[in-house]
Amino acid sequence: MVSAQRLKVNLPDSPPPQVIHDAVCPACCCLCDDIALTVRDGRVESVENACQHGRAWFLSPPKENVSAASIDGASAPLDAAVAAAARVLRAARYPLVYILPDMASEAQRLAIGVADWLDAVVDTATSGGHAPSIMGFQNAGKVTCTLGETRNRANLIVFWGTNVVKTYPRFFTRYSAEAKGMFVPRGRADRTCIAIDVAENETTRSVDNSYFIRPNADFEVLNTLRALIGGIRLDADRVVRQTNVPLTAWTELAEQMKQARFGSIVFGRGLMHSRGRHANCETLFRLVAELNDHTRFICRSIRAAGNITGGDKTMTWRTGFPFGVNLARGYPRYSPGEYTADEVLARGEADAALIVGGVASERLSNAAAAHLARIPAVYVASRHEPFTVNPTGQAAGTKIAIQTAIHGLQSAGTMYRMDDIPLRTRAVVPSPLPSEADVLRMLEDHLRGG
Ligand code: SF4
Repeated sequence: MVSAQRLKVNLPDSPPPQVIHDAVCPACCCLCDDIALTVRDGRVESVENACQHGRAWFLSPPKENVSAASIDGASAPLDAAVAAAARVLRAARYPLVYILPDMASEAQRLAIGVADWLDAVVDTATSGGHAPSIMGFQNAGKVTCTLGETRNRANLIVFWGTNVVKTYPRFFTRYSAEAKGMFVPRGRADRTCIAIDVAENETTRSVDNSYFIRPNADFEVLNTLRALIGGIRLDADRVVRQTNVPLTAWTELAEQMKQARFGSIVFGRGLMHSRGRHANCETLFRLVAELNDHTRFICRSIRAAGNITGGDKTMTWRTGFPFGVNLARGYPRYSPGEYTADEVLARGEADAALIVGGVASERLSNAAAAHLARIPAVYVASRHEPFTVNPTGQAAGTKIAIQTAIHGLQSAGTMYRMDDIPLRTRAVVPSPLPSEADVLRMLEDHLRGG
């Protein structure tokens, strides 16, 4: 019989945990880069400095499926799946490449290269989210700055149509309201925080003063503030009827904005997607520019999770346009309401699709998702698209799925923070799966080979 002591002596020592400092959390567009991770036996054991969303992202990643590739539901070697993907996409007359945000900008660049080889329509998740802000920016320009500058300088912050306290908790504590900065050393005590929204939420309850406006009245409110800042007299009855808030309250806010040492308007989907959409954003950008006649003022849009800002940057770098680009004629054509993934699918035009870096059906209208389910499609992502394969092969076209390593956890690359700052994510745990960039590089080689 072997003694317990002897057993203990013969057992190999379990490797000590590895502590990784200053890791980037890719779970939302804040990309907090001060996360400490303890990694043991190939998985993250503990997370420090992250909010509850970030902790959950690192501690409960999606289940990994090591049979990484499949063709029509049957497991296939990676090479065979990529070759089949190239055949399917090359055979299409009007292919779509849809770039989603769970991937590095290096992979986004390769996806645009693939679209170029295919003469495809190429679009990103921005078309279904942040597009109104981009279009407003194209019309009016934008006065903005980095999150670091807001943190160090802003003594008035207006949260407009965004519940950051709930969705991005550390935006509130690390970059804005509660953060201590160079010129606001006491943090929250040195700042005035205001919220403009249609209903009470966690953010309106955390600020000094809230304005509850009529739904879809953002355009009217923005123009009320522009008029007051420009010294134009307004009809008090009309203002309260249109905005739900008395003129005296708007006059007080306009004065507060002019008197701020450094002001910031942080806006979200509530403003971007209410009636007016890109006209709201354009009017906001004009309001902020006009405020700079009186003081220093900027605006900052809150983006969705993942590398969505990187998609805009990479698309603009490679095609000259931020989203919704048609490469069918061999040169880029941009038409925001025409060449988006949702439009070309919902109109039944795309006859094959490459979906990369996320789950497309979560972002598409019912008509677009239904058409995507009917056509041949290649999915390259760490999360599988919930498509159904018709065993008769009649209704659904060929479906090729290639599972990739989880970006920011199992594979490294560049991501862009919401303020356009690029940050490098790390592969903190190993994975046998390829990255999106690995797969797209193989696919591009096939397409290039003719
Ligand atoms: S705020 Fe966003 S980036 Fe920061 S820890 Fe939370 S989920 Fe991660």
